[in-house]
Amino acid sequence: MLSKEQRRAFYKSRAWQSVRLLALERDNFECQACKKNGDLFIQQDEATKQKHKRLDVDHIKELEQFPELGLELENLITLCVKCHNKKHQRFIKKSNKWAHDENW
Ligand SMILES: [Zn+2]
Repeated sequence: MLSKEQRRAFYKSRAWQSVRLLALERDNFECQACKKNGDLFIQQDEATKQKHKRLDVDHIKELEQFPELGLELENLITLCVKCHNKKHQRFIKKSNKWAHDENW
């Protein structure tokens, strides 16, 4: 298991930055969840693509529990912010019923 600090350091590392970019390029800068649902979100112009602000690279097997897969391209998937949040919210709901209420 990785601590919060260790994960923060991981996401700042140069190794992660470069493998993250490889994952984005492999997935054509497209959200793979939207693509699967036939609701493809394509960032059309090159300038937007370069910024890829609205896309996240997610760990299929969570970094926290599978740190050894943290830099494996096979374990990475490109998600838009919307889908990434959806995945995260689902996780919160499952693990902590009250997390949502605390936001209010
Ligand atoms: Zn999406």
